[in-house]
Amino acid sequence: MKTLIKCSRVITMDSRRRIFADGSLIVSGNTIERVLTQAETAQLGSFEGDVIDARSLVAIPGFIQTHIHLCQTLFRGLADDLELLDWLKLRIMPYEYAHNAKSMYASAMAGIAELLRSGTTTIMDMGSVHHEEEVIRAVTETGLRAFVGKAMMDMNTLYPPLRESTKDSVASTLNLARYTHGLADGRVRYAVAPRFVLSCSDELLAEAYAMTKDFPGMLFHTHAAENRHELEAVRERCKMDNVEFFDELNILHANTCLAHCIWLNDREFDLMKERNAKVLHCPSSNLKLGSGVARIPLMQTTGITVSLGADGAPCNNTLNMFEEMRLAALMQKPLHGPTAMNARSVFEMATIGGATTLNIFNDVGSLEAGKRADVVLLNLNKSWNPYEPQNDDDLYSSIVYSCSSENVESVMVDGRWLYRSGQYMMMDEPKALHDAREELRLLLQRVHA
Ligand SMILES: [Zn+2]
Repeated sequence: MKTLIKCSRVITMDSRRRIFADGSLIVSGNTIERVLTQAETAQLGSFEGDVIDARSLVAIPGFIQTHIHLCQTLFRGLADDLELLDWLKLRIMPYEYAHNAKSMYASAMAGIAELLRSGTTTIMDMGSVHHEEEVIRAVTETGLRAFVGKAMMDMNTLYPPLRESTKDSVASTLNLARYTHGLADGRVRYAVAPRFVLSCSDELLAEAYAMTKDFPGMLFHTHAAENRHELEAVRERCKMDNVEFFDELNILHANTCLAHCIWLNDREFDLMKERNAKVLHCPSSNLKLGSGVARIPLMQTTGITVSLGADGAPCNNTLNMFEEMRLAALMQKPLHGPTAMNARSVFEMATIGGATTLNIFNDVGSLEAGKRADVVLLNLNKSWNPYEPQNDDDLYSSIVYSCSSENVESVMVDGRWLYRSGQYMMMDEPKALHDAREELRLLLQRVHA
């Protein structure tokens, strides 16, 4: 089955960053077969297949959020105005521990509904210690592209019930990875996810990394250098800083993906660059938890790959990539001036930068022939915007600074429409939200029992 999508603009994000006015896409099965210019579209003649008239819409590559916690969606609004370690100890860890299979599935479904309607087509998710199979089920059923991984924790002084033995953590991760990595024709993959240094023994961190060597394309996903109090505790235990410690353990490599990286020393910048390790930048979360402002412009000039993520719903409190793009740009400007972090560089982080981070840039991240068809159609005329974009920078500016999820018209992942003209195609959203409310009510009863 082939589909021709005629657009007002196709923002390709190919290596030349080409944008085709009045261009089109031909999708065949799960793949982009051709990206056509205006002239090529006009010459096409008759077309065997579906023709979608999106000539008032702009096609962009689906957004890639490299740091999400679907297991926390239910806790939105229940952990506000706290510092990281208190946020974990008093709210998030007890809530995660109270999850059962049904509440975990409901949490994941509510999160996926929000991600899709705001144009996100790929995520890397960190789960909790238990019930990861429910996150995997939700991702598989809804059609989202994802790296998933249960949180590995064999130490926990903040909330001791939420942990496992080193042996159990490694064994259950291995079981999940064998079952998940490459699921749904490669749409669902595994990323081992030791939570952060303070919740993992040296042995667990090393064994988790070692596992990635047995599975092609597997990633190592953790948090690093998020908060000053956390960094003090890391220094006390490791006698060095967070990223230095990862390098000492020989777990800092190209498939090492580190959320936050706010408190890196200068040597750690060099190490990140030398090892080609990746930074997962979460602007809303960093601001809301008061964690700090990551030195992203310096990372960019150093040549470190940076991508974006909303983190968990209770430290944001949305899962909306438009918010992350806007804040990623704005938060640097008081420090580095208004020309820092321009709209185009932020849009790159949200698309091809995410694909590079996850090492799936041959599959997604741009609209090019041969790649998987992960496409978002935006209606830029929805906001009060009388100015017709005159050049490429106008388009990036409009998307990064002015758009929100209300501008998302349709979302395709792997050649399937998951959200079309405002309707969910693969999920019952009212039921998902109803179930989320009910499961949260029951979960809070378990917490307070
Ligand atoms: Zn996180």
